[in-house]
Amino acid sequence: MARVLIIGCGGVASVAIHKCCQNDEVFKEIMIASRTVSKCDALKDKLQGKTKTKITTARVDADNVEELIALIRSYQPDAVLNLALPYQDLTIMDACLACKVSYVDTANYEAEDTDDPKWREVYEKRCKELGFSAYFDYSWQWAYMDRFREAGITGILGTGFDPGVTSVYTAYAQKHYFDEIHTIDILDCNGGDHGYPFATNFNPEINLREVSAPGSYWENGHWVEIPPMTIKREYDFDQVGMKDMYLLHHEEIEALAKNIPGVRRIRFFMTFGQSYLTHMKCLENVGMLSTTPVDFNGQQIVPIQFLKALLPDPATLGPRTVGKTNIGCIFTGVKDGRKRSIYIYNVCDHQECYREVGSQAISYTTGVPAMIGTMMLVNGLWSKPGVYTTDEFDPDPYMEALNKWGLPWQVRENPVLID
Ligand code: NDP
Repeated sequence: MARVLIIGCGGVASVAIHKCCQNDEVFKEIMIASRTVSKCDALKDKLQGKTKTKITTARVDADNVEELIALIRSYQPDAVLNLALPYQDLTIMDACLACKVSYVDTANYEAEDTDDPKWREVYEKRCKELGFSAYFDYSWQWAYMDRFREAGITGILGTGFDPGVTSVYTAYAQKHYFDEIHTIDILDCNGGDHGYPFATNFNPEINLREVSAPGSYWENGHWVEIPPMTIKREYDFDQVGMKDMYLLHHEEIEALAKNIPGVRRIRFFMTFGQSYLTHMKCLENVGMLSTTPVDFNGQQIVPIQFLKALLPDPATLGPRTVGKTNIGCIFTGVKDGRKRSIYIYNVCDHQECYREVGSQAISYTTGVPAMIGTMMLVNGLWSKPGVYTTDEFDPDPYMEALNKWGLPWQVRENPVLID
């Protein structure tokens, strides 16, 4: 039925591509295109013969719009799935616009060079006006709304787990369980252990930038920002147990605050062990998380990129990670005049993911929704010109697909709430 161009061939892409190949009735043809074509070829060799999906590969620099346009024109896909880094979102969207092809991604735009004066000017204005200082926000991609509409193409922004599934859970809760949602707490728990003293579960640069930044949450119509890791709670997660979790800024809060009428508070918590936090603080204190290049023996080095080269590649954590993830949302609000609270969540086992697709659960819980979001688009269920986050479509077919494709969810009434 569909022909899809997938850009990037890292941890998340590998899972999404495995899943497209399992779903070969929908994904008749895929092209895997990335900076390092040998990775694309290796994955193609692994999957070919086990699927009816026809796989081709190509090399592309996704920072280069002209190169992207040439590739899209030659392959003629029905959609482009961006699984490179958030740095490439805008160049890939520009190329999709030029070729009038729909676009899907899993993370919102983030500038690679945060010292670029042109970017900084917009960023600093936004920090003042909106009140949160994360390097990423939706404004850059929402700015494509009219151009995507006029071109008659759809952009699905952020179809990973969080953002992605968490926003679909919210739309589902809104549709089936509440007249009005008052609070949303998104809880991202990783109870997995990879045995390394320190490693990140997805791209280290993106991950460390996110968790070392100030936290923020939405309350009564505005953002409240706090120093990094200063709001801590404990929670007893189903099938994982008691974990410490910390409030972080997270991108779906921005979209949900705009799209869920009457919502009073939205927070995001992620679990971290003490050892992870101590390592991160130390790396930050010595300047290793900096994105500003330093001169070293006549060479310009970006500290966080050098650190990435030293840390284990997240794509290699699969065989050694044991334990489970539990990611979901607790909603409170009213239904038929009565107070109500529910918890919708998924539990995913690292080793089961590894046995199925050769990856740990963090890549799995992102790659499966990336495939599902793309399927919603190409089969026409989630197709409307413009750019939208996943809470802005009918959640039912997506929720059904989560059950079918490896991320079953459950709903608990009256969960323990977080103060
Ligand atoms: P990886 O670093 O493992 O993979 C990134 C891939 O993109 C690599 O194959 C890399 O190529 C390729 N790439 C990078 N720059 C370019 C470029 N200029 N041109 C072409 N290809 C390029 O990252 P992950 O798989 O861990 O993450 C992928 C995305 O998923 C990220 O945007 C991340 O933020 C997002 N994510 C979303 C989550 C969610 O729940 N919504 C959770 C986790 C991740 P090379 O091999 O040459 O380096």
